[in-house]
Amino acid sequence: MISYKNLINSKLPNVGTTIFTTMGKLAQENKAINLSQGFPDFSCSDKLVELVNHYMKSGFNQYAPMQGVLPLREQISIIVEGLYKTSYHPETEITITAGATQAIYTAISAFVKEDDEVIVFEPAYDCYTPAIEMNGGTPIYIQLNPKDFSIDWNAVRKIISHRTRMIIINSPHNPSGTVLSVKDMAELEKLTHDTDIIVLSDEVYEHMCFTAEPHQSVARYKGLADRSILVSSFGKTVHTTGWKIGYVCAPATLMAEFRKVHQFLVFAVNHPIQLALADFLKDKDTYLEVKSFYKQKSDYFIKLIKGSKFSYEQSTGTYFQLLKYNAISDEKDVDFAIRLTKEHKLASIPLSVFYHENIDNKLLRFCFAKKDETLEKAAEILCKL
Ligand code: PMP
Ligand code: GLN
Repeated sequence: MISYKNLINSKLPNVGTTIFTTMGKLAQENKAINLSQGFPDFSCSDKLVELVNHYMKSGFNQYAPMQGVLPLREQISIIVEGLYKTSYHPETEITITAGATQAIYTAISAFVKEDDEVIVFEPAYDCYTPAIEMNGGTPIYIQLNPKDFSIDWNAVRKIISHRTRMIIINSPHNPSGTVLSVKDMAELEKLTHDTDIIVLSDEVYEHMCFTAEPHQSVARYKGLADRSILVSSFGKTVHTTGWKIGYVCAPATLMAEFRKVHQFLVFAVNHPIQLALADFLKDKDTYLEVKSFYKQKSDYFIKLIKGSKFSYEQSTGTYFQLLKYNAISDEKDVDFAIRLTKEHKLASIPLSVFYHENIDNKLLRFCFAKKDETLEKAAEILCKL
């Protein structure tokens, strides 16, 4: 008899099915409104779809270049320089990826070796830790302040050692809906100065920062840009999470190492979509209007739930809103989220799943990237609880 336990000897013994799959399935089975996994329930631009069609019909259906098509890399270079004042060379410093998830996995694989430490702030998006562990690294967790999800930079200072290979930051932050400030970036720049630490900056929600201070990309800070891998995703910006196209910007030497892995992980990504995006993004409104679009959604959702028993701080970034339910129930967040889906037909994500020790602060995450009518129906349920 084959012993599958021995045969497999899992590299990820503690990993099951992601919460996004689990809650999405539960929402479907229970015909619940799905504010769990982050994706829009409205369509992307017709013009963008037409452009993809155009390039498919024009025969761009074979492999794209390994680094991504040049027109898209050129367009990204223009956008990033316009917004953050750092110039990334399209030939050597920008690579198109199959979404941010592949970009993050590739970056970690390229730079994290056995016994390296990687600082991860919790709650953390779920793809960081498995990628670190698959590559033999050790995640070193620092909890964000549970009240406002700010970073205690003194705690970071204390934990940095000669083994620290990488620090992962994510702003605007999933799942908390908070953003890093100018002060945070200055702290990070100071802390990493004169070290060999690489910063992996997950900026997939870069165009959804609602504070007066604009989005704080690592590309705004020379000391950080020189040691950072900047990751973003078109899925969020142009409302096409299902297309899985993202990109990475990094100094040429780091990018050369990144591409060594990229070429064997995927080699290249969807060709006609890259060409369509290159054309589409020439119009600045396609990315500049995302901020006001989602700020309106956020304001509307907050207005709709005003009368409910939930407490909250309004999100300052991303398309997620956290709601605290301690005035309604003392159930564990996972149990409450499941009951909300089954009995009240509204699906969300319990926050404890974003902590390796499943810390339960009685918070649920709701995605407000939805049609107004979806938000209205969801709020009606929330207000009745
Ligand atoms: N990072 C964060 C913080 C995310 O929320 C997501 C996805 N939603 C990703 C990375 C992955 O993005 P993609 O779908 O482009 O792989
Ligand atoms: N990023 C999305 C979220 O946080 C989920 C993407 C996924 O399902 N992996 O909801």
